[in-house]
This record gives sequence, structure tokens and C-alpha cells, in this order.
Amino acid sequence: MRAIDIHVHPGTREYLIEGGGKYMADALAYFHKHGPPVTLDDMAKLYREADMRAVLLAWDTETATGLPRVSNDFVADAVRRYPDVFLGFASVDPWKGKLAVAELERAVRVLGLRGLKLHPIVQAFWPNDRRFAPLWETCAALNIPVMFHTGTTGVGAGVPGGNGLHLKYGNPMPALDDLAADFPSLTIIGAHPSWPWQEEMLAIAVHKTNVYIDLSGWSPKYFSPTLVQYAKTLLQDRILFGTDYPFLSPEQWLGEFDKLGFKPEVREKILLENSRRLLRL
Ligand SMILES: [Zn+2]
Repeated sequence: MRAIDIHVHPGTREYLIEGGGKYMADALAYFHKHGPPVTLDDMAKLYREADMRAVLLAWDTETATGLPRVSNDFVADAVRRYPDVFLGFASVDPWKGKLAVAELERAVRVLGLRGLKLHPIVQAFWPNDRRFAPLWETCAALNIPVMFHTGTTGVGAGVPGGNGLHLKYGNPMPALDDLAADFPSLTIIGAHPSWPWQEEMLAIAVHKTNVYIDLSGWSPKYFSPTLVQYAKTLLQDRILFGTDYPFLSPEQWLGEFDKLGFKPEVREKILLENSRRLLRL
């Protein structure tokens, strides 16, 4: 196994068209992706040939968007069908309250998913709102990481009003810092370079060891020098490889990353070892 891609969306019609609706159409245009959706078969082949594992992310934004889910069962089924390639993270809709907590427990205990992925901008919520504390307590009790989208987003980008989405929810400060402080046994992954709040995210991760950063959704050639510097040094044990497939491909991401001059042992941690430890593989 060469790498673990910790941030992979199903590039299938269930996510790109049905679950994503008008929001995902904007994201695809933003990333200049115009091909038709692929199948799970196509994705399994791509990752198998690249000798990588892919963490597939479910999607539940029903309350905020009214769109159908990419369910935890869909992701678990993909993992069952391609166990040599896929791992899965659950999604729940935080606004569903006790139902969200019960669904998270089912997704991990029954379906075997290994983390929780949330998108505060699309799901329209503050992670540090006390109403959602039961979700974080459940993640900690289940011993799974919770991944939050951070920074700006391609979803809703490039149209008037950004499709009604509020970027404020993508600012990790203070929401993720509050969460990391209040739940020290909760493992948090801040997804993506957090532009325009990159320094805030780095400060949180440097200060709190229960915080990780994934490098997905952003071409490595555009990483800020500060992010690269921290990834090479202080944060080398908590930075994770991710692409945000289908918006970026693993080969494109890796080709650009390899021009940034990481030492082989640090590269190995970021591509593989940090996620392997985090996911207890
Ligand atoms: Zn993503």
C-alpha cells in the first residue's frame, strides 16, 4: 500500500447529481470538472492500480438542502464490495438530534464505518454549538475521528449568493478550537488547507494534539509556504494526504506534492503512516 487517501467523495451520480444537486454543479464547474459521473467500479480500479486505499465519505445535508443523502449504507456497501480498496466515513445531519446520534452509532457499530465527516458550510451549523455535544461525545466513545470541512468551498462557488451558503461556518476559529479544547479525547480532522483561515487552523493543530489536518481539495502547487513549512516540521505527524476526489485526482495531487521537497520519511508519514495510525489499520 503506497498511500491512504483520507478524503474521497463517491464520484458517482448518487453524490454528484442526486445528493449534490445545484450545489455540486457549482463545485464541478469551480474545479473545471465536466465529465459524467463514474461508477464505484471505475473508482476501485483507479485506486487499486495506484496501490492506494480510499476513504469514501457519506453525505447527509437533508435539513439544510432538502437533497437526498449519500447514505452510510451506500458507503458501507461499497466497502463490502471492494474491501481491498475502500474504507468509509459516515455522515449524519447534526440537525436531526437524537436520530443523528443513533445513526452514527449504527454506522460505526453495525456498518463498520471508521469516522464521521461533516460540512458545516453546507449543513449550516456551528460545531461548537452545545446542542451538538452528544455527537462529539459519541465520536469520542466510539473512538473514531470527526472530519470537518474548513476554509472556503467549491460548493456554491461562482454563482450569485453562493447558492445561499455562508462561508463563516468554514472558519475553524473559534469553532474547532473550542471543540478540541472541550473534548480532549475527541480526534478532529480539519479538512483542506483552510484558506483564508490557514494560520488559524495551523495554530489550533500546533496547540492541540487531538487535531489533524488533511491536505485535500487544493492543488499542492498552491499550498501556502506556511502550511508547507509546518507540514515538514512541527505537524509532520498530524498532516494527512487527501485529494477530494473527484475534484482532484490522486496522480495530479501526488505529482504536484512531490515537487515541494518533502524528505522521504516525512512524505511517508503524510501519505500513509499518519492515517494508518489514526484509522488503526
Ligand atoms: Zn471534500
